[in-house]
Amino acid sequence: MNYNNSADEILAIYRLHFNSIMLYFAMKLLTEDNAKIQKSLNKGYKTYGLHLAPHKLSGKNLCTSASKGCAFACLNTAGLGVFKSIQNARLERTKFFNKNQKEFLSSLRREIFLAIGRAEKMGMIPCFRLNLTSDILWEKLNIIQEFPTVQFYDYTKHFNRIMDYYNGFIPENYHLTFSRSESNEKQVNALIADTDVNIAVVFKEFPDTWKGRKVVNGDNDDLRFLDDKGVIVGLKAKGRAIKDKSGFVV
Ligand code: SF4
Repeated sequence: MNYNNSADEILAIYRLHFNSIMLYFAMKLLTEDNAKIQKSLNKGYKTYGLHLAPHKLSGKNLCTSASKGCAFACLNTAGLGVFKSIQNARLERTKFFNKNQKEFLSSLRREIFLAIGRAEKMGMIPCFRLNLTSDILWEKLNIIQEFPTVQFYDYTKHFNRIMDYYNGFIPENYHLTFSRSESNEKQVNALIADTDVNIAVVFKEFPDTWKGRKVVNGDNDDLRFLDDKGVIVGLKAKGRAIKDKSGFVV
């Protein structure tokens, strides 16, 4: 390609990269706007999260241990999730993840790197929750291992995964809390009997204890990695969960 002058050259490069620049902005992966993660600011932590389209919404199941009750009550439709534009953005992000995982992970890596810098500039400790509305095994995709000094955390409904966590097979900088549903009661009982992993339970009203364990209020902040070991993380039913009839809400 011949250019008459540098202005033509700049214009040609701009045109060539316009689509990828637009795609980059349209495909911003991490959010800081979730109301719950904003509560972490008071404790000096800046949380960045990733919202994808949960369960089978994208055509590929991102939550293979989900129950009927949790898929119905999923926080995906809470808060800003009521807006169609937000749902579309989550869907597009998920299609990007499903279709081009390598590119997706490069973008995610870049955004994590930039977010760490931004948080530190603000004098905050950065932390990341990549499964705001999904249950992906990020540790298998090596993202967590690439930032060994940074705290990641998530909830999970995968029993084998939480056992790997308990047995020390998950990177140390990745904190996991098991998430109860109406269909994993046996697993919850086994975890309570044999481990000290924390278990999140959605309640209509918080009890002081549940199945013999102390209940802490998980709605006060989102910083699950600061919870004591062996507690029940109580979450108040919100959004569609208020109408739950499956037993997902206790
Ligand atoms: S596993 Fe979690 S993210 Fe997935 S559908 Fe259930 S509540 Fe939503």
